[in-house]
Amino acid sequence: FELERLGVHESVEAVFPPAELVTYLTDLPAEVAVVDDDGIDDCDGVVTLAYREAFLELDWIHSIQAGYDRFPLDVLEDHDVILTNSAGIHDRTIGETVASYLLMFARRLHDHVANQQERRWDRPEWDEAFTLPGATACVVGTGTLGSGVAETLGALGVRVTGVRRSGDPVPGFDEVYATDRLLEAIGDVEFVIVTVPLTDETHHLFDAEAFDAMRDDAYFVNVARGSVVDEPALIDALESGELAGAALDVFEEEPLPEESPLWGMDEVIISPHCAAYTRDYFRDVGEIVRENADRLADGEEFYNRVV
Ligand code: NAD
Repeated sequence: FELERLGVHESVEAVFPPAELVTYLTDLPAEVAVVDDDGIDDCDGVVTLAYREAFLELDWIHSIQAGYDRFPLDVLEDHDVILTNSAGIHDRTIGETVASYLLMFARRLHDHVANQQERRWDRPEWDEAFTLPGATACVVGTGTLGSGVAETLGALGVRVTGVRRSGDPVPGFDEVYATDRLLEAIGDVEFVIVTVPLTDETHHLFDAEAFDAMRDDAYFVNVARGSVVDEPALIDALESGELAGAALDVFEEEPLPEESPLWGMDEVIISPHCAAYTRDYFRDVGEIVRENADRLADGEEFYNRVV
């Protein structure tokens, strides 16, 4: 197909202003414009956060996220729609967010922030604060996110192991386990960090059995997708002291419902699915879109093609 008109769907607004990406892509040999649901049918391709059935009439969808669990892959294939994603850009952002969570727990900053709201001068117990060098973390999923986390934590002196399907070594990880040794891998570390895509295989990968296998003084971090975790089982483990705490960016239901007990837990840090936010986000996505527009013009295979 030929790319004559590329829409930037208004749903990207949750992450960056659509007009910024339009301006960034003005050098493309195609018309680029912000579109809402009514403007889709004039386009050949769309850059988007949300999925719409109207996209089935297009030739190409580019998702501004790495995860594509919200797109109906079989239906897209049946309609000959190409889907590309934004995997590969979130290593540093997620790495720094995860390092921040770990530093908050280690240096007790979440307590200080909570105390400050109450104008309360309250120091940690003598044995609550610790430092990261020598601490151990297991990162489950060794793709872009996992590697970014390993690199950032490695620089802070954390010993990082990984879990992936094959168990083959990955640069930046001190040791890598195959998925069938998950419980063993997460059983003896102070931090477990989840960075796998949500698939049939990873749905509720972290259940009561997994939390049971973890140390009682371990922290659990999820920056992947909410449904990789059985959330009621996580809440049980936190409430019963089977885990020390958790840092969560993603949830089974988003926004996290007001009545969720997670909101009220002292040792839980909650961020609203924004661990990868950066003011450079539109540029990072724009580079992938430009690369694919070039490849299309040259008759080459798309970069980051999912369908
Ligand atoms: P990626 O494609 O670079 O890496 C994914 C890795 O997971 C690959 O190495 C793949 O082989 C591996 N994998 C797939 N199935 C697996 C399984 N069953 N067990 C173990 N490993 C498996 O993607 P990424 O950029 O690292 O993103 C990973 C996921 O993180 C995304 O799918 C998305 O859901 C989530 N994510 C969340 C945020 C956020 O804002 N919190 C941002 C980016 C990505």
